[in-house]
Amino acid sequence: MPPPERTVRQRIIELLIGTRLSSYQLAQMVGIAERLIEGHLPHVVKTLARDRTQRFVLEPAACSDCGFVFRDRTRFTKPSRCPTCRSEGITAPRYGIEPVRK
Ligand SMILES: [Zn+2]
Repeated sequence: MPPPERTVRQRIIELLIGTRLSSYQLAQMVGIAERLIEGHLPHVVKTLARDRTQRFVLEPAACSDCGFVFRDRTRFTKPSRCPTCRSEGITAPRYGIEPVRK
């Protein structure tokens, strides 16, 4: 039986604190499909938006051939192709949670 949703989200949050992980790495660590991780991430962002002590960090996907960075991308999936050079060598976006310093 799969664990309840809340537990999975809590686990994702715990894993992201103080580090940067791709959804693939998270999938390996939590033990669920990468697609499911991508589904949980928007909720993790919402949870963190209410937290004044820590914040969600998105390190955007980038093209490894020309260096194009997918800054405007809001979906939690890896882009398939670079809009500038059409390369498919795209690094996965990485996520993390870091403390908010006052
Ligand atoms: Zn490119």
